[in-house]
Amino acid sequence: MEGVVCTVGCPSNAQLAGRAPQCEGCPGRALCQTSVAVGDPDQELIDCRMNAIRHKILILSGKGGVGKSTIAAALSLALSRMSFKVGLLDVDICGPSIPQLMGVQGQTVVNSSWGWMPLKSPIGDVKVISVGSLLETDSTAIVWRGPRKTALIKRFLKDTFFGRLDCLVVDTPPGTSDEHLTIVKLLNNVNPDGAVIVTTPQKMALYTIKKELDFCRKLSLPVLGIVENMSSFICPCCEENSELFPNSSVEKFAEEHCISYLGRIPVDPNLARCCEEGSNVEQIHPLSPSVKSLKDIAKHLQIRLMQNEIT
Ligand code: ADP
Repeated sequence: MEGVVCTVGCPSNAQLAGRAPQCEGCPGRALCQTSVAVGDPDQELIDCRMNAIRHKILILSGKGGVGKSTIAAALSLALSRMSFKVGLLDVDICGPSIPQLMGVQGQTVVNSSWGWMPLKSPIGDVKVISVGSLLETDSTAIVWRGPRKTALIKRFLKDTFFGRLDCLVVDTPPGTSDEHLTIVKLLNNVNPDGAVIVTTPQKMALYTIKKELDFCRKLSLPVLGIVENMSSFICPCCEENSELFPNSSVEKFAEEHCISYLGRIPVDPNLARCCEEGSNVEQIHPLSPSVKSLKDIAKHLQIRLMQNEIT
């Protein structure tokens, strides 16, 4: 185990966590020192809950607004339509949008004797848990420092009663921050399948993916593939396809970095509207161009997960 809280330059030797020279001044130093000294009593429970879930997938993006949460929600729904038992965990603590996307806004999480019961989405067979469902009102702002976020993510993993699942999809905040470091470390013992990286074709978005790849490499988190979002627009009237970034190089980038290119999703007004309404685009607009793309990406992902089972 490396340091618990700081995001850069954690010592690679567990025994040095919180004690190495670079830990000087880190806000998570005390937490690291404690966890190394006494071990983490919650980890066993987390491992137990997470071992009941066959596949754990993190959805990452280098920057906000590229459609990461939209794709996390849509892929969960697509996988559940492929007979996967799916859970969706939202660890975007400061900007949770999963309750809205999955239509569970207004539902309350019940704390039963088995733990927090995830919410049942009315738009697909997916079990959902998010900090957004624990807040008193939609306008409550979360202004937390790292250790408090770490504690909540740990509670999500330790206390949520997902039961046996085929797949847990984890929506994360943009970038590489406390939340990412925490979730990857907490899943370390249970072999997460890896990360799906979502990007748009702009140069700036591609630039930030390099940081995501570096993060995955440093934490030994496999990359399952890249999804290119909002790269083209298919006219709803004449079905003509317009490339918004004709020189997009996401596919080439994936090839150069030996990463699977899982597919591309066009800008789809039906998808955007369904996100606003908290409805399932596949149910309401089954012929919409984004639906086919999402299905193809889910199939591609399923193949990657099956390969992981074999190896
Ligand atoms: P992120 O999680 O990366 O911040 P979101 O998933 O919240 O991004 O998406 C940002 C906005 O873009 C949302 O309003 C969403 O509905 C819209 N959006 C995402 N992907 C598409 C798409 N393929 N077509 C149309 N709108 C999209």
